[in-house]
Amino acid sequence: MTVWDELVGQEPVVEVLQRAVAAASSGGSGMTHAWLFTGPPGSGRSNAARAFAAALQCERGTGCGECHSCVTARAGSHPDITLISTQGLSIGTDQAREVVRAASLHPSSGRWQVLVVEDADRLTDQAANALLKAIEEPPPATIWMLCAPAVEDVIVTIRSRCRSVVLRTPPAAAVARLLVERDGIDAQAAREAAQASQGHVGRARALATKDEVRRRRREILDLAGSLRTPGSCLRAAATIHELAADHAKDLADSADAKELADLRAGWGVEERGKRPAGYAGALSALEKEQKRRRTRLSRDAIDGMLLDLLSLQRDVLAVQLGSVQDPGDLVNADVAGEVQTLARLGTAESTLRRVDAILECRESVAANAAPLLCLERMMLALAA
Ligand SMILES: [Zn+2]
Repeated sequence: MTVWDELVGQEPVVEVLQRAVAAASSGGSGMTHAWLFTGPPGSGRSNAARAFAAALQCERGTGCGECHSCVTARAGSHPDITLISTQGLSIGTDQAREVVRAASLHPSSGRWQVLVVEDADRLTDQAANALLKAIEEPPPATIWMLCAPAVEDVIVTIRSRCRSVVLRTPPAAAVARLLVERDGIDAQAAREAAQASQGHVGRARALATKDEVRRRRREILDLAGSLRTPGSCLRAAATIHELAADHAKDLADSADAKELADLRAGWGVEERGKRPAGYAGALSALEKEQKRRRTRLSRDAIDGMLLDLLSLQRDVLAVQLGSVQDPGDLVNADVAGEVQTLARLGTAESTLRRVDAILECRESVAANAAPLLCLERMMLALAA
């Protein structure tokens, strides 16, 4: 497999990047030093940036996927590719300064020094300003790749320096094909997962391969039919809130424990048996960062569940408007029966109101409102 093969449904982007790689390997004059990858969640922005980075370092100049450079790039251990991501809500100035330092180094391979900022939308303004100068005047061998959901998510002074690469939501058929070819998933399951995930490649794979992910989605979709009394609405809100917290806990617990162990080892807390001066401050900084990460993970999980509910309402609307003939074409084809029932119980107008309620809830949660309250308000609106 070449480094490009996993960029499903992104042929136009791959063509642009391959042309840039070819130009770079034949002298590199006119190489663009700053790129901005945008596209909806799951479309593979950071995968595209990583593939591009790997291809630029490839010993054969193509992104063959086989040479030492491609293999280490893929494994995330190439010395001249720095990946900057965050589990927290934002990337701060300290992290940005470190990146700027890395950007000024000569590449050890003699090719390029590549910096991939995976969550450029999470740069604080100060951090973005710290990067700005390095992006404006990069050393000749340095290439920046920033990733964000939309161009507007990156401050204008930075984005005006970048060449824009826009990814699209990959078609369900292309995602299904990847699941069959790369992961060996059976065709029917791949098709259902690809449709249900609406072009989110990672989620499609999780749906097709993990029972608990499938179970959680069903649990969420079943909520839509359970909203009869105010009490059931509040319970449904609590269910989503708890599922999200559990999910965040699963992901965060092991990371937290490892970071704490590293911190204790770093400060020699284990050997000396007592806490050196300065440790308390470092510990509290770590705990703050971990709390932020939990918050973000839980919000992301809530958003994923809201997207499931939204896709269900859109299916209901499609049935009510008669725009879907074959139930197999519904996003949630596996629960077509429930979709038909919900469609009979309401009107297109009431469904549109529900769609609005879900969109409003997503916005409030993204704007840091208290998630449980937002969910409760939404569930009551869904029942109305
Ligand atoms: Zn290669």
